[in-house]
Amino acid sequence: MVGALQQGAYEMVDDAESADVIIVNTCSFIQPATQESIDTVLELAKLKTSGGLKKLVVTGCMVQRYGKDLEGELPEVDAFLGTGEYHRIVDVLRDRNEDAPKTHIDVPMYLHDELAPRINSWSKCSAYLKISEGCDHRCAFCIIPTLRGKLRSRTIPSLVTEAERLVAEGVVELNLISQDSTAYGRDLRGVEGERQGDLGDLMRALAKIDKLRWIRLHYAYPHGLPDSLLDVLANEEKVVRYLDIPLQHASGPMLKAMRRGVTRAGQERILERVRKAVPDISVRTTFIVGFPGETDADFRELYNFVEAQQFEHVGVFTYFQEDGTDAAKLDGQVEDAVKKSRQKELMRLQKRISKKRLKGLIGTTVPVLIEGLSPESDLLLRGRTDRQAPDVDGQVFIQNAPEGVAIGQIRDVRIAQTGDYDLVGEIVD
Ligand code: SF4
Repeated sequence: MVGALQQGAYEMVDDAESADVIIVNTCSFIQPATQESIDTVLELAKLKTSGGLKKLVVTGCMVQRYGKDLEGELPEVDAFLGTGEYHRIVDVLRDRNEDAPKTHIDVPMYLHDELAPRINSWSKCSAYLKISEGCDHRCAFCIIPTLRGKLRSRTIPSLVTEAERLVAEGVVELNLISQDSTAYGRDLRGVEGERQGDLGDLMRALAKIDKLRWIRLHYAYPHGLPDSLLDVLANEEKVVRYLDIPLQHASGPMLKAMRRGVTRAGQERILERVRKAVPDISVRTTFIVGFPGETDADFRELYNFVEAQQFEHVGVFTYFQEDGTDAAKLDGQVEDAVKKSRQKELMRLQKRISKKRLKGLIGTTVPVLIEGLSPESDLLLRGRTDRQAPDVDGQVFIQNAPEGVAIGQIRDVRIAQTGDYDLVGEIVD
């Protein structure tokens, strides 16, 4: 949307008070996200009377989910766009017809391509690359397939063109994202029905881009990881030895009730396969605690699984009983206090695992992507190793940086101190 707006001669401003138009892109994955979206819209709508705001537009998953009902709930809003309509933002803003519909929603079919203008507003040296949209799974707790539609993969040439443009602008790290990365390419068929490439083919094609240094994969659904992916993880220098593979639980009855399509033994086999192919890989995963019917024994099984697997990075979420999902109708909903205490206990375990693992890095030298100044002190730079993803994992703080260090460089850093999740060191190259 930012790219389309810039192409449409709109100018971005840094503060809401000086904007003529405000677009609120919403999340609606669970009720707290919807509530946050509504609160933000109501807060910004005040600028229509107290400031110079002329148009307020709401886009994204909340619109896709609640549709025209929002017109009555939020009369301050001038237009609503669903998840498959964001490319029409400029047309909607320019439409001066008083009788034009306020809400624009359809079955989400749109998939952006290399021709769609794009501004990487998030970082100078790292970018997310959306490789597909939608998901064909039906996990019992998840509303995403309803909001985002069925799997639609982008073609390899389209992704390579977008990536080349990002790299020409200074990006050295690409983070491949989607709702289900493992499924990438399953829907891409040639005229005779033949496959048009999978995840491994895509990553190999991206790795050929000169000046691109790191390619990182997120959201790999555990079941069905293609061999080609393990092959690039093991052998392609630019593909970082890092895999984000959400597992959600470890107890058999929970995995079944969640409809994850995999058993605990199946998950163990998948992890074994990954680690056999890439022995030094860093694995990130996420779990949900407090799913309906989760007993103490189920939780204990999950706890023991995390202890046995010694993952590098773990995120733990408490289950939310979300309207419109099958899990919301299940008996045995777990009390909030129990969910929170299980989340705390599991995170405490992971903190110990992470702390111990990081201690082992003291004295070693690791490559670090320089990203900017530390928010805590201008005397420190911050960056990430190839084993730390943006936003979700820890960081590296760099002391006594020499002259000439710049954002986007990958420098060798000797680790001197470690915390629970972060590292501290000095550049030694
Ligand atoms: S695979 Fe992910 S996006 Fe798809 S239904 Fe399951 S949790 Fe939701």
